[in-house]
Order: sequence, then C-alpha cells, then structure tokens
Amino acid sequence: MLLGLPTSDRWTVFLDVDGTLLDIAPTPHAVRVPEGLVATLTRLRESLDDALAFVSGRSLDEIDQLFTPLRTAVAAEHGAIVRLPDGRMEETDVTVPAEWRAALADLAQEHRGVLIEEKRHSIAVHFRLAPEAEPIVRHAVDALVADAADRFDVLPARMAFEIRGRGVSKAAAVRRLMQADPFAGRLPLYIGDDVTDEPAIAAARELGGLGLHVGRDFGGEPANVRSWIGTLIDQELTEAPPHRPENG
Ligand SMILES: [Mg+2]
Repeated sequence: MLLGLPTSDRWTVFLDVDGTLLDIAPTPHAVRVPEGLVATLTRLRESLDDALAFVSGRSLDEIDQLFTPLRTAVAAEHGAIVRLPDGRMEETDVTVPAEWRAALADLAQEHRGVLIEEKRHSIAVHFRLAPEAEPIVRHAVDALVADAADRFDVLPARMAFEIRGRGVSKAAAVRRLMQADPFAGRLPLYIGDDVTDEPAIAAARELGGLGLHVGRDFGGEPANVRSWIGTLIDQELTEAPPHRPENG
C-alpha cells in the first residue's frame, strides 16, 4: 500500500491532540490519555531526533500535563503560544479582554451545558452538552468581536466557538516551527481532525510534506492514528495510513 510519498528519513511530525491523538470527550477536561501513548510518542520523538510537535487549541499547561513527562515543541492555543524545540517561547501580544471573558462567563451561567475554556490569549465557549445553544453562543461571540474585528476573529471549532487574535493559526505555527532547528530542512507530516486543522494540513502539503485528516484518512478514529504513528518509529515514511483510499 505504497503511496508514492517522498521517501525521507527527514520527516517532522505535527500532531493535533483532541480528536486526533485522543478520543473526543464530553468536556475538554474529561479526555483520557490511553496507556502506552506517551511511551509511543516519546519513542517517535527520539526516532525523529526531537522533530515532533503538538499543535492544539489547548493551553500549554494542559498539553504538558496530558503528556507528562514528555516535553516537546508545542503550538498551544491554536498557535498563539509556540514553544520552540530549544524551549524558547513565542507568544502573540493580542489577548481577549477581561470584559469579554466576564460577559461569556455570564452567558455560561445562564445556559446550562455551555462551558467556558479560559486560555491565556483566547477564550473558547463549548456547547457540546447544549447543542441547542449554538446560535446564542455564536451571536454572543460575534457581538463582542464586532467592534474589534481588526484584532480578533471567531474560530468555529468542533461544538465550540473561540475568540482569538487575528493572524493566529495552526498553519502559521507550523510554518514558524518549520524554520526552527531540528524541523528546518525536513518534510512536515501533519495530522488533524477539525476545521482549524485544514489550513495546517494545506500548509504541510505546500511545504512538500503530507497533510492527513482523521476523518478522511483514518476512518474518523483517533485509535487508528495512534496505531499508525507507532508504525512510523524508526521507519521511513512510505506506508499509507490504514483508511486512506488507495487511489485517493
Ligand atoms: Mg482536534
């Protein structure tokens, strides 16, 4: 099942977290890290000479906690915070104002099942437990951003809306990391599941690498991603993921 991929032992691997490495849970705090995953990721990182990065909407602290003791390059908060492979941090200087955070906290109080996820630079409003609240949440975040659309935009995510700084994206984070050692000069492999991943998937392809989507390439199952990345350890990347159509 060879894909005709560029054969290279010089890959770098970018992995989204929720819905890609981890199964989606009812709330962001309820996710489970399967046994053995951290060990697999640690071995994968070693086989890539540290060229492994997580790219997630989550906060940096949450990502570190989920995968402890593994510490690697990270684009957190959709790229608002980038931890480079050498540990240096780069952050956007745009942060959601306190008044907006208070207004959205009030909204969550008023609507059962609407949950706020506070991040350093952004804020996400989840409605997975209250799907009927979607139009209310959408209206609220749009109204807040309306007067500051030059600095912020609304990101539609899976069962959530997020207000973030304009220009912050997973694609920009991938491009940034690809300039840093040991990523520079390699080919990017990106795997993600969400609308927020599509520009990063496209960026990986534009950079000559491979952009894969959990729904399209892995049957929608993070378990298939987890087993496939295990096969990449110490291998050249020439094998197709399990659910990729052979002619797709
Ligand atoms: Mg995801």
